[in-house]
Amino acid sequence: MIDLRSDTVTRPTAAMRAAMAAAPVGDDVYGDDPTVRRLEQRLAGDLGFEAGLFLPSGTQANLVALLCHCQRGDEYLVGQEAHTYKYEGGGAAVLGSIQPQPITQAADGSLPLTALAAAVKPDDPHFARTRLLALENTWHGRVVPQAYVVEAAAWARSRGLAVHLDGARLYNAAVASGVPAADLAAPFDSVSVCLSKGLGAPVGSVLAGSAALIAQARRWRKMLGGGMRQSGLLAAAGLHALDHHVARLAEDHARARRLAEGLAEAGYAVGGCHTNMVFVEVPVARLPAFASHLDAHGVRASIGYLPTVRLVTHLDLDDAAIDRVIEVMRAFQAARP
Ligand SMILES: *Cc1c(COP(=O)(O)O)cnc(C)c1O
Repeated sequence: MIDLRSDTVTRPTAAMRAAMAAAPVGDDVYGDDPTVRRLEQRLAGDLGFEAGLFLPSGTQANLVALLCHCQRGDEYLVGQEAHTYKYEGGGAAVLGSIQPQPITQAADGSLPLTALAAAVKPDDPHFARTRLLALENTWHGRVVPQAYVVEAAAWARSRGLAVHLDGARLYNAAVASGVPAADLAAPFDSVSVCLSKGLGAPVGSVLAGSAALIAQARRWRKMLGGGMRQSGLLAAAGLHALDHHVARLAEDHARARRLAEGLAEAGYAVGGCHTNMVFVEVPVARLPAFASHLDAHGVRASIGYLPTVRLVTHLDLDDAAIDRVIEVMRAFQAARP
């Protein structure tokens, strides 16, 4: 199987497994796991924050951040197509009584400042209290323009709002733009980063922020059931990923471009190629046949979640796999009735 559904499908490399096996561990709920500490300090330091917290998933990292920034009856401004709003089970509303105020993203992933300004509620008992702006970078693979991020964060602060970044793929953005991750993270009060996407760790995210925010986050994590014991085994995979799998994200981006070019040449309408993601338009009427063609030829893609088919490159795919995918998809185009 050549699996391009997501960059979450990567399996730990032999070197990563060796690092996991060798990691010194302790009970992290007691604060005794040296490897978890090292990962938290490492990522917080890399991103320019005082403290970090290792969590089992990006969903929990974002939820914990929202719970820190917002109280019951508060609201956060968030993209209509943002992961935090759309793909995390409504957790902030369900578990935090935090109201989302979705804003339609522009094509580049920005939330237009005029729309944001119009959505901020006056201090009036009719309304929820607007407290937070949440952005996402990369968004559907796109690197959100940093000039916009800086401007939006400054605007949010001028309105008394905190600013959170869902940086699940922040390192893809850093590698693709050549801007250090710390600079991309600088405008924010808190940033979540996934280790289990393109970085190739099996499990885990880190939330970075001020020492005070992370102390509060630690309490929320425990309450949500995310306090783990000898989790240094998992943190070691994250440390290994930060040491060995960041620069190589450029290979995933190059392979995505190669895939996009090959598919365009094979007659596909390529809707976009951003960092490690390629979006391809397949007519709805042909989707079932397309899905079974890929299945029959050992290729997996994300079909049916988005208006376009999504193909994601990652650590477990080499050039030969990309060529094979192009060949399989070309055969489907050639067989068009
Ligand atoms: C994957 C992802 C998350 C959540 O991560 P999980 O570990 O799958 O819970 C959050 N935000 C974005 C943008 C993601 O792609």
